[in-house]
Amino acid sequence: MHRRHFLTTTAALGLSSLLPAITMPERKDYLQTVTGPVDSDKAGWIMEHEHVLVDFIGADKVSRSRYNPDEVFEKVLPYLQELKKLGFTTFVECTPQYLGRDVILLKRFSEATNLKIITNTGLYGTQNGKYLPEYAFKETPEQLAKRWINEWQNGIEGTGIKPGFIKISVDKAPIKDFQRNLVKAAAITHLATGLTIASHTGEAAAAFEQLEILKAGGVHPSAFIWVHAQNEKDPQKHLQVVKQGAWASYDGAAWGEPQRYFKLIDNLKKNGYLNQILLSHDAGWYRVGEPGGGDFKGFTTISEKLIPLLKNKGYDDADIEKLLRVNPAEALEIKVRKIK
Ligand SMILES: [Zn+2]
Repeated sequence: MHRRHFLTTTAALGLSSLLPAITMPERKDYLQTVTGPVDSDKAGWIMEHEHVLVDFIGADKVSRSRYNPDEVFEKVLPYLQELKKLGFTTFVECTPQYLGRDVILLKRFSEATNLKIITNTGLYGTQNGKYLPEYAFKETPEQLAKRWINEWQNGIEGTGIKPGFIKISVDKAPIKDFQRNLVKAAAITHLATGLTIASHTGEAAAAFEQLEILKAGGVHPSAFIWVHAQNEKDPQKHLQVVKQGAWASYDGAAWGEPQRYFKLIDNLKKNGYLNQILLSHDAGWYRVGEPGGGDFKGFTTISEKLIPLLKNKGYDDADIEKLLRVNPAEALEIKVRKIK
C-alpha cells in the first residue's frame, strides 16, 4: 500500500510566523531517475546494474574531453532500444564519478529511448583508490557524505539531475581504512537522503564487514545491495548475507553461464529468499580510449537465455516479475531504512 502523509513545510523552514501553513502531499514510494521521480509501481522491468560508458584511465586523468558524446550516443543507442523492445523500462547506470559518469549523456539517452535511467552519487574505492580523487583520502566520512548529500539536494555538477542511489566499492576483506570511510559516508548519506547503497564487493567477507559498519551507523541491511554477489563461491555465505536483510545482486549475467546464475538464484529461492535477489548483466559499455569504444556487450542474456532457463526449471511469471520488477523497485526506493 502507498502511504500519503502530509507535511507542513512552512514550519520546517522556520517560516511559520510569516506565511499561512501550507500542506503538501509527500510523494508515494518512488525511484529517482535522471528525468525526475518515478512511482515505484510504474518503473516496470528494471535492469539494476548496467553501464553506458566507462573510462578506466584513473581519477587523475579522467575527463569528458576524452570522448565525443555524439559518437557514444550513436554507438550505444541501438543497444538501449533493443533492451526497451525486450520489455525493460528502467535502466540503472552504475558508472560512478571519476569512472565516466556523464549525467547529461544519460538524460539524452533517456529522452531518446523513453527508458527511465537512474544514476548515482558516491565514490569507487577499489584497485587501491585508482578511481578516487585526492580529497577522498583526506576527508572524513562526514565531509564525503556532505558532497553526496549535496548532489541529492542540488543535483550533480550544476545540471539539476539527481542521483537515484549511492555507488561505492571496496576491495577484498579486510577492507582498507579509506574504503571503510566510503562505507561510513554511505551510511550517513543514506540516513540523510533515503538513497540505497550499492557496493561493488564480490566475496561475502567484504559484504559482512560493510554490513557491520552500516549497522554501527544505524543503517538497516535492507539499504545495502551486495553488488557482484555471484563472485562468492560458498552458497551458505549467500544465505548469511540475505538473512541479515541485504540484497544479493547477481549482476554479471552477460559474462557468466546461465546455468550458474540459475544455481545462485535457486539456492536463495529454495531457502525462502527469492524476495531479496536482484538480476542484471553488468553489460555495455563504451570503453573510452579504445577505437570506436571497443566491443559493446548488449543487454540481452537475461531475456534470451536466463528467463527461458528459469521457466524451464518451473519458475512462473510471478517469480520472474519479482526478480525483474518487484525486487529492484523495492531495493531502489528512496526510503530511509534505520535499525529499529
Ligand atoms: Zn558494473
